[in-house]
Amino acid sequence: MSVLVFVEGFNGEIKKSSLEAATYGYQVAQQLGTTATAVAIGEVHEDALAKLGEQGISKVLYDADSRLNQFVADAYVKVIAKAAQQENAKVLVFSNSNIGAAVGSKLAVRLNGSLATNVTTLPKTDGGQFIVTRSVFSGKAFADVALTSDVKIIAVKKNALEIANAGSGAATVEKFSADLTDAEFVAAPKETIMQDTSGGVLLTEAEIVVSGGRGLKGPENWHLVEDLAKALGAATACSKPVADLDWRPHHEHVGQTGIAVSPNLYIAIGISGAIQHLAGVNSSKVIVVINKDPEAPFFKAADYGIVGDAFDVVPKLIEAAKAL
Ligand code: FAD
Repeated sequence: MSVLVFVEGFNGEIKKSSLEAATYGYQVAQQLGTTATAVAIGEVHEDALAKLGEQGISKVLYDADSRLNQFVADAYVKVIAKAAQQENAKVLVFSNSNIGAAVGSKLAVRLNGSLATNVTTLPKTDGGQFIVTRSVFSGKAFADVALTSDVKIIAVKKNALEIANAGSGAATVEKFSADLTDAEFVAAPKETIMQDTSGGVLLTEAEIVVSGGRGLKGPENWHLVEDLAKALGAATACSKPVADLDWRPHHEHVGQTGIAVSPNLYIAIGISGAIQHLAGVNSSKVIVVINKDPEAPFFKAADYGIVGDAFDVVPKLIEAAKAL
């Protein structure tokens, strides 16, 4: 019996959220007195995979089939299910990313397992139970869930735990294949998981996000958001009306109906802080709000607030950030 962690790559490196999942998987394996193996698919550098040893992963099964460079849910499920069977894995760990959530739910059906998404804690295993805590209602509440089936599938909430260095050596990387046929790809629906970047930074993985709202008046003023993001090495985002107005592309829209982000720092410029916007950003570690209205609801969710006109405040922040 072992723990299997599915790790995702981006630009050949392992995503930060997958390093968190690997940390989680290793800690569960230690609790259960077993080892943690990872499975990786598509374009990932082998030395990046070997470095998963730092998170305590002992072995990585790597399917480098180039047809898997594009996400095809059923094909991914087949690879991971075969790896789980080979390793006799009873606990499967994912990041709660778009890909992780899509694949995790299909795997739960295929393996007759139970699935818990948005998990924030290690399992409580006293008395043979397996209980995890999930973040629910857009982070407003927590629910304890008992996973009772033989196979347990856990999607770990992003930024809910620190990436640990277990101090182990390099993981061994083994070539792995689920022997997928071309027909399985031809028949598969084309699925697009948003991997869009701003300035080379993946929004869902970004450490810092600079986000603009309708208070910026128009797309011609977006250089303020972009320049601040560039100075901080951040990704850019926006509120829903900004995307609806075509000031920014829809893949930058964060919130209940957009992307959920969980950076260490979220800077909101000219955004009121409606509940639907907060639903996508309230997992951020630190929130900074810049708004000229001292009564703007976003200030209630902010760690730091600047009451002021964005057109005065942001240029000063850009100069300060450039001087860092
Ligand atoms: P506004 O509400 O117009 O706020 C602009 C803010 O800018 C104000 O607080 C104002 O004081 C400030 N401001 C103005 N000028 C300046 C200046 N010069 N300097 C500094 N501050 C200034 N919204 C999302 O963002 N994401 C979602 O996923 C989402 N999903 C939704 C789903 C549903 C079902 C519904 C009904 C709504 C959803 N919304 C979503 C919309 C949401 O309710 C708000 O309408 C929206 O977030 C407001 O965007 P905003 O803050 O950019 O604009």
